[in-house]
Amino acid sequence: MTEGVIFDVKRYAIHDGPGIRTTVFFKGCPLNCQWCHNPESINPEPEQSLDYRDPFRLNPFSKDNSNLIGEEVSVEAVMEEILKDMIYYEESEGGVTFSGGEPLAQIDFLESLLERCQEEEIHTALDTSGLAPEESIDRIIDLVDLFLFDLKLVNEDSHKKYTGTGNKTILENFQLLRERNPEIELRFPLIPGITDTKENVQGIKKLIRKRSGLSRISILPFHDVEKKYSNLGRDFDLAGVEPPKEKDIRDISDEFEKMGIKVEVGG
Ligand code: SF4
Repeated sequence: MTEGVIFDVKRYAIHDGPGIRTTVFFKGCPLNCQWCHNPESINPEPEQSLDYRDPFRLNPFSKDNSNLIGEEVSVEAVMEEILKDMIYYEESEGGVTFSGGEPLAQIDFLESLLERCQEEEIHTALDTSGLAPEESIDRIIDLVDLFLFDLKLVNEDSHKKYTGTGNKTILENFQLLRERNPEIELRFPLIPGITDTKENVQGIKKLIRKRSGLSRISILPFHDVEKKYSNLGRDFDLAGVEPPKEKDIRDISDEFEKMGIKVEVGG
């Protein structure tokens, strides 16, 4: 039986793709972005939260009150959760989103879940950092209806500095997907002083100039998640950084909109 580690299942999600959705959060990510809003997703193993009353403590399948974040679960156990809301998916043209962490890092588990969703005729979205072997993308490309692809930093050195890894594979996979032409929504985290520089925004614009397959851009403004880090016993490198100003968000949205691309803020 295929099993994987997840740390949350969010029902009635409305920002992770079209309609009303169930979002399944995979645990484990090959990146380590300084602004990560889900730091509990990075370590691939279940881990303890230091605060027993941690409001972010998520363990949907746990039967006890442990403060363990993450649980090893079977495909069928996840499907049981997903299938509870079929009526909402049908009425809202929603579906399921696999997020994380990085779902492609648990490729067998992800592929099995996507196959089961296809059997049930459920719309699927995959939220990915794009950092995965090409073979993993090949295995699931025909099972995913919508890719939510995160593009953060175009400059390789900056990418390494702020996420812990280079972006060569990510950019190659982005181009690969665009050639294969599935529906893609770009997700752009707007981090003051890091991703919002003129140089980076121009670089992103250049990458998306050929718009084939790109349905929209979601701008994801930075917000403070220091509490989540302290509950994991980790320092938050961006403590004290203010969220982006409304005007800056609007200016960057306008730049993308001028390219004829639909822009949404939040997600
Ligand atoms: S890619 Fe996403 S989940 Fe992974 S560390 Fe970065 S922000 Fe967090």
